[in-house]
Amino acid sequence: MMDMNYFSLTLCEAKKLLQQGEITSVQLTESIFSRIDAVEDKVKSFITLDREGSLVRAEEADRTRRQGRAGELGGLPIGVKDVLCTSNMRTTCGSRILEKFVPPYDATVIDKLNRAGAVIVGKTAMDEFAMGSTNENCAFGVPENPWCPGYVTGGSSGGSAACVSADESLAAIGSDTGGSIRQPASLCGIVGMKPTYGRVSRYGLVAFASSLDQVGPMTKDVSDCALMMNVISGYDKRDSTSINLPVPDYTAALTDDLQGMTVGVPVEYFSEGLDPEVEQVVRSGIDMLKDAGAEIREISLPHTDYCVAVYYLIAPAEASSNLARYDGVRYGYRDMEAETLLDMYQKSRSTGFGDEVKKRILIGTYALSAGYYDAYYKKASQVRTLIREDFTRAFAQCDVIVSPVTPTPAWKIGEKGDDPLALYLSDILTISANLAGIPGMSVPAGFSSEGLPIGIQLQGAHFNEEALLRTAWNIEQRAGIKGRRPELG
Ligand code: GLN
Repeated sequence: MMDMNYFSLTLCEAKKLLQQGEITSVQLTESIFSRIDAVEDKVKSFITLDREGSLVRAEEADRTRRQGRAGELGGLPIGVKDVLCTSNMRTTCGSRILEKFVPPYDATVIDKLNRAGAVIVGKTAMDEFAMGSTNENCAFGVPENPWCPGYVTGGSSGGSAACVSADESLAAIGSDTGGSIRQPASLCGIVGMKPTYGRVSRYGLVAFASSLDQVGPMTKDVSDCALMMNVISGYDKRDSTSINLPVPDYTAALTDDLQGMTVGVPVEYFSEGLDPEVEQVVRSGIDMLKDAGAEIREISLPHTDYCVAVYYLIAPAEASSNLARYDGVRYGYRDMEAETLLDMYQKSRSTGFGDEVKKRILIGTYALSAGYYDAYYKKASQVRTLIREDFTRAFAQCDVIVSPVTPTPAWKIGEKGDDPLALYLSDILTISANLAGIPGMSVPAGFSSEGLPIGIQLQGAHFNEEALLRTAWNIEQRAGIKGRRPELG
């Protein structure tokens, strides 16, 4: 393995070479940091990097391996969205208000990664408190799409998508409240999975909208996604919404055909506003599924039109409550000039939060206020139930639902900055999975004529991640673009 750019390996490839003794984790980690040195100026994936700590972890992993005790991810370099608490690195959530915040504990997912021997190289850029679809709402710089400089990575897990796509880590962790794993994965040409609500612990995930948030993997390919799912899934008594079900071996789901499977195509997801190139990639993906032996059936999700409105009431309502804790008293930014307690709250929050976060707090507070609660929050919750029932009916007719992830490929940074509604509408195809609590996934399937990646979305019934992985695997085998990487120089 002389002269090889180890950073370009997938997680599974690197794992194999480590197991065979062909490479060491120190070599792999050094290679990752040399890649970061070479491209990070262009991509800007990270808010915080831990070079020294990573090398110590890599040495440890090599030692453990020599003793025959390597974990599932022993010695493999991984990036983590800066929304998961890490006791050895600050956790900013992309916000000034948490700029210097070092959590006193590790999130359960971090704990699981560490126990599996992963080397966490750094914390990745994100929209502030995960609110956004472009990563432009980050207080610490805007990452750029590795496929095309000056284009958005998507968001809010844009840094995680960019670092994987640019080979600055072998895989990453993101979080998804309304599409924040799937959408940037699609725009950056990588695989991303939002697991079923309750599949992965939210303990130590800084809360945005607690009934919608899930943590999930962002990887170079489908096998890596399955491997990461094996590590991070499972019941956690510290998260009251986590579900106590056994974790299957997700890699066993990656089988070569789709015999016996029915794939649903929702008519509502192919409507006006869908870019023709995106539609074409998804349609040819559907043909691949047919080739693989799946039966294709048209289905209907009649309440799709209400998803954006429902989400933009429920998510801000929960956010306004969750973000009340940033008051400058116990942690986070405090304005030191304030003369009274109230003044201190106001000044700390006014300076600490960015515009999008403030806007959501205002919307959420309004939606929950006496006199409006019934008209907004309660009504949204009722429609949410209808959306969930759409999926229950759909999954009586099919195993997997296939659709676009986003209506368009990536766009230029700044292009939709003054049009919040256009951005909110771009979440239309991903939000419903969060509202229904079902798993969703994005798998690369093609490119636009400009060379921008286009993903396909797969959605499944609660806890049927295996069907998504199996379907995604079959798309990956047939799409003929696996291993294609951006030319970053
Ligand atoms: N883009 C959506 C929003 O702005 C979803 C974000 C997310 O999934 N965290 O809220």
